Amino acid sequence: MKRRAGQDRSITDHWRPATRAIRGGTARSEWGETSEAIFLTSGYCYDSAEEVAARFAGEATGMTYSRLQNPSTEMLEQRIALLEGSEACRVTATGMAAMTAALMCQLSQGDHLVAGRAAFGSCRVLTDTILPRFGVETTIVDARDPQAWADAVKPNTKAFFFETPANPTMDVVDLRAVCDIARARGITTVVDNAFATPALQRPLEWGADVVAYSATKMMDGQGRVLAGAVCGTREWIETKLLAFTRHTGPNLSPFSAWVVLKGLETLDLRIRRQSEQALTVGRFLESRAKRMLHPGLPSHPQHALAMRQMDACGAIFAFEVADRAQAFALLNALELIDISNNIGDSRSLMTHPASTTHASVSAEARAEMGVSEGLLRLNVGLEDPADLINDLDRALAAAGL
Ligand SMILES: *Cc1c(COP(=O)(O)O)cnc(C)c1O
Repeated sequence: MKRRAGQDRSITDHWRPATRAIRGGTARSEWGETSEAIFLTSGYCYDSAEEVAARFAGEATGMTYSRLQNPSTEMLEQRIALLEGSEACRVTATGMAAMTAALMCQLSQGDHLVAGRAAFGSCRVLTDTILPRFGVETTIVDARDPQAWADAVKPNTKAFFFETPANPTMDVVDLRAVCDIARARGITTVVDNAFATPALQRPLEWGADVVAYSATKMMDGQGRVLAGAVCGTREWIETKLLAFTRHTGPNLSPFSAWVVLKGLETLDLRIRRQSEQALTVGRFLESRAKRMLHPGLPSHPQHALAMRQMDACGAIFAFEVADRAQAFALLNALELIDISNNIGDSRSLMTHPASTTHASVSAEARAEMGVSEGLLRLNVGLEDPADLINDLDRALAAAGL
């Protein structure tokens, strides 16, 4: 039956990535629509009282309530799982809902978590402030150093959590080395893969257990909706994640799921083109900035590792100017590139992390993770790179660089 071919893993597992991105997860309704339908429904109706009783008893398959199942979100979950190479996936309302659920679902009072130092601001608030309020002890390590992870392990360590490349300093974590340390000790590794996406990096292939996403970023890729996703084994998703999310309800709306489904169809094209353009723009900036933090350039201390783990460098990098005054002068002189703290958009966007994305992190933590007052982060979009370089050239000159 072609109607549900996109949801049959005995068929879809044989598809190559480009086919998965377009067809994976598609389940057609009785109308035979070509583009996936948006099922904006909170509930479901049944032909009989026996039928609904059987569904609630787990004896019959079928949907019962959109906090538990929805056809549009299920299509997205299947497509992301196929792109990731994971058995299962659940989508969430935001990336932070995905990170929170991926950690809270498996950690209890008295457990210990080891997390990477360079991270998205809200991820640091989650590990440093929120989880400790519930009795979860956290150790923050320099994630670039595998030995630091091994040294931080305690008898009650249950999970490792990190992103690579990390926001905004572009630290790269050796996936194989860190996942091996966790595996050998029965620790679950959760990787925030927002920057690379499954198009460029699949952490499960390097030994990670769980991959979590802000699908707000490259997966939608056009700055339209907030969304998140968590991928893992079927058993982990069912016994750990769903035991938490079914009752706490961080669900993605079916409308947003549909928008991300459309985004995934072009994810590979966009991220490869944006990666090429990020290299072109990065090479230009290298001669003018005080310091470049760009995993695609040989000047990055972990360039070789980044290129071993990733198929391309991604759309985002950071660079440093003298101080906050010079960073603000540069931002204010931009005419094409927007001042915006978002990333993963088809538009080029620049932000000053210390006063925006990382403003809620303590000044000490910012200094430790390398978020200096002169640091700027650039998301390179799909505009013509010559126009981006002209805009930067003018803004750099206006800022005295
Ligand atoms: C944006 C982002 C998040 C949070 O995602 P939201 O969709 O904004 O909630 C988490 N991790 C990383 C690396 C991000 O870039």
